[in-house]
Amino acid sequence: MRISVPTEVKNNEYRVALTPAGVHDLVAAGHEVIVQRGAGEGSSMPDAEYQAAGATLLDDAAEVWGRAELLLKVKEPIAREYGHFRKDLVLFTYLHLAADRPLTDRLVTDGVTAIAYETVQLAGGGLPLLAPMSEVAGRLAPMVGASTLMRSAGGLGLLISGVPGTRPATVTVIGGGVAGANSAYIAAGMGADVTIFDTNIQRLRFLDDHFQGRVKTAASNPLDLDRAVVASDLVIGSVLIPGAKAPKLVTNDMVSRMRPGSVLVDIAVDQGGCFEDTHPTTHADPTFPVHGSIFYCVANMPGAVPNTSTSALTNATLPYIRQIARRGWKDALRSDAALAAGLNTVGGAVVNVGVATAHGLEL
Ligand code: NAD
Repeated sequence: MRISVPTEVKNNEYRVALTPAGVHDLVAAGHEVIVQRGAGEGSSMPDAEYQAAGATLLDDAAEVWGRAELLLKVKEPIAREYGHFRKDLVLFTYLHLAADRPLTDRLVTDGVTAIAYETVQLAGGGLPLLAPMSEVAGRLAPMVGASTLMRSAGGLGLLISGVPGTRPATVTVIGGGVAGANSAYIAAGMGADVTIFDTNIQRLRFLDDHFQGRVKTAASNPLDLDRAVVASDLVIGSVLIPGAKAPKLVTNDMVSRMRPGSVLVDIAVDQGGCFEDTHPTTHADPTFPVHGSIFYCVANMPGAVPNTSTSALTNATLPYIRQIARRGWKDALRSDAALAAGLNTVGGAVVNVGVATAHGLEL
């Protein structure tokens, strides 16, 4: 199959849909992989590595799109890419169509077969192509939290680990799923005193067993959460209620009672945030004050570490890409229910329930 990888064009997007190792894998399986020249630069993956892995490098985006049977991207196409759509194109990328009517309409009109990373779903409900980005954001959160706790960043001037004879930071992680567990792992590794709150007792059992006493667990209820947040130096918000906006678990009043210079990182900002005062920020201007505390609410945290994020994404997508390339998309989806759940538009129609419901369309 001819598989194409264009350069991402969305503002501040430095990831790319395939690593040189991914190219090597697909070329070894007999496929042709076309990569736009410079596509990997933002992820510190130079053209020379793609060429050595067997990619055909092309300069022109229109040609990269035009020659593709399967087109791999990271972010949803933006308006200036719509012109590349055509009926015999299979597109595999993050799409988030429920929030994007113009893109949905255009994919339908142009008859594109669009498979969305975010709706590929395992039988147990897990989202294998979202998990790597939650891992990245989760691991990054204590690091940005630790640096924001420094006096120079407006924090209270606390070293997250402390030193012998001084206290470490008290860290509360709200939501112990993929992101939260990864936050706790790094925060505990840096020597902080960490507690994870979750409403799911089964999940707390797993975390308790997993961390073997290095991290405390707590059932999430408003009273205990209030006490823990107010006593924390760093709060990390990582709750998710699938298909819903995040609940506002940290109120403005709670923040007003926190120690000046304490830090709150809201990973759930992309679902509206789980702190009352959250609003999305950018890597260029990531923090803002609330009372005496500092909020960090960057909506695309993985964008800070594109080298890692690109590798983690390819690790997760490659098994599905291999199947589509080897068997063709129809057969690949027929034999894998998780991948089939990824199909959002085909033959001029929306076929995903969530997307159809969001736009009031009939399935
Ligand atoms: P997940 O489903 O693995 O985990 C969410 C956890 O929250 C679950 O364990 C759930 O039981 C728990 N939860 C739900 N309601 C709760 C409550 N009231 N109190 C405590 N816990 C509660 O989700 P995830 O993959 O870890 O994602 C977490 C959030 O991070 C999502 O909003 C996701 O969109 C976001 N995210 C953001 C970025 C970013 O760059 N900002 C990157 C990746 C993911």
